[in-house]
Amino acid sequence: MANTYERIYNAAPWCLKELLVSLEAWRRNRHRRYGDYAAVRRDNSFDHYRLPFEAHRALQLESLQALITTAKAKSPYYRYLPDCVHSLDDLGSIPVLTKSDVRQHTSDMITQGTSPNKLWKGITSGSTGTPLTFYVGKTGIRERFAIQDEYYAIYGCEYGTKRVRFGGSKIAPSDRPTPPFWIINRYDNQLQMSPYHMRPDRLALYVGKLNQFQPLYLTGYAHALYNLGKHLVEHGGLTVQIRAIFTDSEGTPPHYISIIEEGFNTQVHDVYGLGEVGWAAVQCPQGKYHILERTCIMEIVDDDGKPVPPKESGRIVVTDLTQTDVPYIRYDTGDMGTLSEEVGCACGWQTRILQGIDGRADDLLITPSGRRVGRLSHVTKPGRGIRESQIVQTAPDKVVIRVVPLPSFDSSSMEEVVAVARMMIGENIDITWETVDSIPRTNRHKFKHVLREFTPNA
Ligand SMILES: [Zn+2]
Repeated sequence: MANTYERIYNAAPWCLKELLVSLEAWRRNRHRRYGDYAAVRRDNSFDHYRLPFEAHRALQLESLQALITTAKAKSPYYRYLPDCVHSLDDLGSIPVLTKSDVRQHTSDMITQGTSPNKLWKGITSGSTGTPLTFYVGKTGIRERFAIQDEYYAIYGCEYGTKRVRFGGSKIAPSDRPTPPFWIINRYDNQLQMSPYHMRPDRLALYVGKLNQFQPLYLTGYAHALYNLGKHLVEHGGLTVQIRAIFTDSEGTPPHYISIIEEGFNTQVHDVYGLGEVGWAAVQCPQGKYHILERTCIMEIVDDDGKPVPPKESGRIVVTDLTQTDVPYIRYDTGDMGTLSEEVGCACGWQTRILQGIDGRADDLLITPSGRRVGRLSHVTKPGRGIRESQIVQTAPDKVVIRVVPLPSFDSSSMEEVVAVARMMIGENIDITWETVDSIPRTNRHKFKHVLREFTPNA
C-alpha cells in the first residue's frame, strides 16, 4: 500500500513533484543527519579501522553485551536470550533470527519504552518475494548515514556535492512514454533516475541527462548502472567525468563491476548491506570487501547456525550494533558469503575480509545467450498485496511471475513488477504474470523464489 507521501506525489502535477521530492528529503534528513552529526561522523571515520583488529573485537564484545542486556530486559521477543555473554564465541549459542521471525514478531522486537517517533519504518523484498516491513531505531539510521557519508568521502565524494541515485524510488508511472524519467531533489543536490524506465532505446536519453547534470558521483542498484555501462561501452556519449560510482543493495557480480568501470571510465566501489541491519561490508580502494567490524558482527554459518571455516561458503548472519531500539541479533540475511583467511589488507584497514558474496546459489535464471541473472528479489518489490511470489523460467525465452494474492492485491501494480523483471532479465524473453492459489514447496519443503522448469543446454 502506498504511503501518504507516495499518494500525494503520484497525484501531483510534474511541476509540484520536484518541490515534494525536496520537502520529503528535508523531512527524511531530520531522521538521518540530526543533532551533533559531525561527532557521529567522526566516530565512524574509517581511520578507526587502522587500529589493531583486537581493538575492533573488544568494541564488538562491549557493544554486544550492552545490546543483549537491553534486548533481554526490554524486548518481549528476545526473552530467550542468555543473561549475558562473556565472549564473542558465545554468540554461536543464540538462535538465528530469520526474515520470517521478523515478519511474525515485528512489534515484539521493539524494546519497551521506545516511542514510535524514534523508529524508522522500512520495507524490503524478503527472500520469499514477499515484501517485509521492518523497523529500525533512528539513532541507528543516523549512524548508518554517518558511515555512508564517511565512506563516500574517502573517494572525494562529499555529501552535498552533485550526485545521481539509481534507486527504488518511484519517479514516474511505469507506462510513462517520454522523459523525464528522473527528478531532481534540490535539498540533497541529488538527481534521482528511474531504473524502471531504462529500456534500451531510452539509454541515450539517460546519458544526455547525465551530461547535462554534471554529477560528481553516482550511487545505486548495480543492474541499472550495468545496463547504462553496457550502453556506454557500445555507443559511448558520456562527456562528464564521474569521480566514483558506488553500487549497493544487491551484491554486485564482478563482471557487472568491470562493465560499469569500462563504460563510465571510473572506479566502482561496492557495498554489501541490508535495510534491516545496515551496511555490513564495503570495498576498500584495493577492491577488497572489509567487514564493518565496529558497527556489526558478521558470521558465516551453516544451516544450523554454526560457524563455517574461512574459504567455505555459508549463510551471512549479521548482528547490528548501531542501535538497541529494535535489536537485530544474528539476523539471517538470506545471502551466502565466504570469509577470506586474511585479516587486514594493504589499504591499512585491520578487519576480516569477505572473499565473496555468493548471492543465493539457486536464485538464477539463464537467458538464451547463457547470461546468468541472479539477485532477483527486487523484482516483486513494487507489487502490492502479494502474499508470496515465485519467478519461474518455464522455457529459455519465457518467464512467468506467479503470485499468491492477498485480499488487498492490486493487479495494476504488476505492470511495474513486469517492468523491473524486464529490466533485470532483459533480452528477448517473454515475461508474464499470473495469480495462483499457492506456491508448491520443493520435495525438501523449501520455498524457492526463483525456479527454472527446464534444463538449459550446456
Ligand atoms: Zn583493504
